[in-house]
Amino acid sequence: MTWRSIVLTLLPEAFPGHLDLSLSGKARRDGLWSLDAISIREFGLGAHRTVDDSPAGGGPGMVLRADVVAAALAHARAGAPDLPAIYLSPRGQPLTQSLVRDWSAGPGLILLAGRFEGVDERVLRARGLREISIGDFVLSGGELPAMAVIDACVRLLPGVMGKTASGSEESFENGLLEYPQYTRPRNWEGLEIPGILLSGDHKRIAQWRLDQSRALTRERRPDLLPLEAGSPETLSLLKGEKLSGGEAGKP
Ligand code: SAM
Repeated sequence: MTWRSIVLTLLPEAFPGHLDLSLSGKARRDGLWSLDAISIREFGLGAHRTVDDSPAGGGPGMVLRADVVAAALAHARAGAPDLPAIYLSPRGQPLTQSLVRDWSAGPGLILLAGRFEGVDERVLRARGLREISIGDFVLSGGELPAMAVIDACVRLLPGVMGKTASGSEESFENGLLEYPQYTRPRNWEGLEIPGILLSGDHKRIAQWRLDQSRALTRERRPDLLPLEAGSPETLSLLKGEKLSGGEAGKP
């Protein structure tokens, strides 16, 4: 089944953009996912296809009109009634790997990219749009956040990352940041790959990686640690059950 993404945007020409490169680009050409970038302008009003107006109550900038956004959303939903719809917004729920996993296991997403000062609140609530933020900063529009969400979902689709990689050992998947990675050359500018990684002892390697992951998480993202305790996968995964054998002594 093809995973579908439908983006409602004032800049449809921005798509597929980056998403046409590398793994996601190939996967789209292979039919693993699809992308429809729909211009909100098509649903604009009057001869000038007006999509925005000044904020009620005054203030700077413009706001995307509820009636225009509702029409664009209705159009998207008519062709894809089973897709959840999200609005990319700095005040939304922070994007997490767990949300990404859920969405990539589903049929796809409708993504509303805002511009200007944002979107009239009434349409967000009346149409049940979930607000999602990609971080505590403000971008000029929702197109880059929409691309980030799509990229994160697409790379988890079966067949996109290749046979062995599933992303299941990556940062956030088990409540921990990923352990440090190394590759050839064995000695670079006098810096050696940690000897344990060349030992071929997969059990000890797994324990070392788990220790490293924990130390890094404690140092950089202590807020994630409560999750670790509740994750039985963490121990089994990092203790080697899903680590690929034979790769450890490579460099
Ligand atoms: N006035 C809004 C506020 O203060 O929350 C910011 C509007 S921003 C200039 C324009 C659009 O960019 C938003 O409607 C949203 O779609 C998108 N955007 C900006 N930053 C974002 C972020 N961190 N995460 C998700 N979307 C973002």
